[in-house]
Amino acid sequence: MRPLDSQEKITVNNPLHITLAGNPNSGKTTLFNHLTGARQHVGNYPGVTVDKKEGFFTFNTNSIRIIDLPGTYSLTAYSVEELVARDYLVNEKPDMVIDIVDASNLERNLYLTTQFLELGIPLVIALNMVDVAEKRGIKIHTQKLAKLLGVPVVPIIARSGQGVDELFTTVLTASGERDHPPTLLRYGPDIDEALREIIPRIENSHLLTDTYPARWTGLKILENDEQILDKAQAADSEVTRTLVQRSETLTHHLQTTVDAFPEAVIADHRYGFIKSILRQEVVTRTFDNNRLYTSDKIDKIVTNRIIGPLIMAAILFTLYSFTFNFSTFLVDWLASLFALLSQTVDSILPDGPIKSMIISGVIDGVGGVLGFVPIIMFMFFGIAVLEDSGYLARVAFMMDRIFHFFGLHGSSVMPFIVSGGIAGGCAVPGVMATRTLRSPKERMATLLTVPFMNCGAKLPVLTLIIGAFFSSHQARYMFLATVAAWIVALMAAKFLRMTVLKGESTPFVMELPPYRFPTLKGLFIHTWERTWQYIKKAGTVILGISILLWAMMTYPGLPHQEAAVFDQMRQETTSSQSADIQDELAKINGLEAEAKLRNSLAGRIGIALEPVSHYAGFDWRTNIALVGGFAAKEVIVSTLGTAYSLGDIDSQNTTSLKDRLARDPHWNPVVGLSVLAFIMFYAPCFVTIVAIANEAGSWKWAFFSMGFNTVFALILSVAIYQAGILLGLA
Ligand code: GDP
Ligand code: MG
Repeated sequence: MRPLDSQEKITVNNPLHITLAGNPNSGKTTLFNHLTGARQHVGNYPGVTVDKKEGFFTFNTNSIRIIDLPGTYSLTAYSVEELVARDYLVNEKPDMVIDIVDASNLERNLYLTTQFLELGIPLVIALNMVDVAEKRGIKIHTQKLAKLLGVPVVPIIARSGQGVDELFTTVLTASGERDHPPTLLRYGPDIDEALREIIPRIENSHLLTDTYPARWTGLKILENDEQILDKAQAADSEVTRTLVQRSETLTHHLQTTVDAFPEAVIADHRYGFIKSILRQEVVTRTFDNNRLYTSDKIDKIVTNRIIGPLIMAAILFTLYSFTFNFSTFLVDWLASLFALLSQTVDSILPDGPIKSMIISGVIDGVGGVLGFVPIIMFMFFGIAVLEDSGYLARVAFMMDRIFHFFGLHGSSVMPFIVSGGIAGGCAVPGVMATRTLRSPKERMATLLTVPFMNCGAKLPVLTLIIGAFFSSHQARYMFLATVAAWIVALMAAKFLRMTVLKGESTPFVMELPPYRFPTLKGLFIHTWERTWQYIKKAGTVILGISILLWAMMTYPGLPHQEAAVFDQMRQETTSSQSADIQDELAKINGLEAEAKLRNSLAGRIGIALEPVSHYAGFDWRTNIALVGGFAAKEVIVSTLGTAYSLGDIDSQNTTSLKDRLARDPHWNPVVGLSVLAFIMFYAPCFVTIVAIANEAGSWKWAFFSMGFNTVFALILSVAIYQAGILLGLA
């Protein structure tokens, strides 16, 4: 923040720039929504995919711009959120930071507060959830707390808006004040001694002093904070080297004397600082201290070793059935809407490329994506309920041990489930759901493996192939497909964590927040934000792709002479006296369509891929469908349908695609299994790829996922097909 010694005049921005900061679940968003209502928008912080919420409102004729910072427990450099939060505070220099502190969890929340104080930023504490604290028999003496911390403290209930006016009156008064000297904490003799030595060096060389107080920089160097070390290195490598040397001496000393790293010692002293404050008649308890609070009572059952997982399974299953059952009517309604649209266009426009493009390209493509919106909306709503009530944290807690083994984290569970871990889902929101993961490597491993789940778009294909070749054991094969997806995803994660994403697993530090009743407003805002992101991203990308695919399967069409041959055949048939002219014509049309498809760009690609794909048992038509699946898995069935209906005489009426595949000489159960495996595990669809690139912050990982998954799937399919041949089954 502002350097300590600044004699500069305080310039207060207009609108006043205020930032909400605090622990996750402390009520930031609730307060933010209360203040701004609909006058808010969500963006990203530069270069990372952490939501940045910004809103405007007026308070007593003062116009105020307010930012909802990501929730964090600390200001280390370990997670993206923490980096974003602290960079924002030092670079954007808000006029005032409102630190939202959960009164029912005071000690834990003040840990972050302490770090704001060390940073010397202009701070007002909003002591939130005093209603919850009161119910638990906790009374906090705010005046006393304010005096000890040296910053104003205002009790509020964000949910009802109680105390919010007083909070902003305080904020406005405080924002006129001149400087906010960093609070000086003591970190014990060794660290204090080291700080005494290095602070003057930092000040004399003006190392990062424009941005951070010297003491804070010193502390971060002792904490071995990567970001600050990099910045310091870039600013003045010579001085930094001597500072790092001092830090290493300290580390060595602490290791030998107390067997701890400086960061741990520093953290201990911060907690000590908090404890000493709280002990000074700041908190009184009106109930017995040892009483089990409601949350703890619930947790005794809900996270119980045996009953816990059963309850979890039941809740997840409920979420799943809720989503799919209640969204059906909307899905059907949308489907008939798009069908009606197609019919209307069909009857209005004359035949030709424009009509074909609008129907097959635009309406089918966009309809395919929008068709998922109800499912996604319901799924997000259900997840918002689990998240806002605090249950999601328990799921993560219970799954952590299993996931840990595979190099993932308890919080990876939800992305997997959202992506189709129970069957049906979507990797796009799944990929977005990885945002709850704090460690970048665990997050990346989750991000790259969630597309292995059986998303809603793969289900129709799986059903088709299983129906065609394994119809007697349909349920069993569907179940196996789900299990296989999990096994492959977890193994792949383990593999990635042992190779390209090698690194320590982070311990499960997320604390279990107390259970709360979610508010309807909060749920709707959460649901809508996420759904809208999906519509925006998917809608635009898919539109482009489906037009492209349509063009690839349509152009360049047949050369003139060949088209003339078919015309001639048609003429001959029409003028002949044959009894079944219609059948003959249909046959000719079919042959022409097949010739067209072969000659189209997509057809040529399909044929060109045969030399490789035949090892896995795929013919050129299947290849077209699979290539289409790179864009969106939805198109696999429709493309197979188009490719296989061609040249079949009694096309629409009697033969379903399922029967056609079952009868086709190119197909048999082994091919079916091989195609099934390929579809389950090859490259994620294009929308997912875009989402991965967005979340990972680079296209590198998106392309990696495309290549890695495709190669893996191909190897698997070839193995299946070749084994089938060896066993004499194919
Ligand atoms: P954030 O993670 O800091 O943005 O926290 P949220 O605003 O999402 O709040 C987390 C939960 O606490 C939500 O379920 C809120 O409804 C609830 N909540 C927020 N403020 C209060 C409050 O003052 N009293 C009570 N009882 N609940 C609150
Ligand atoms: Mg929030």
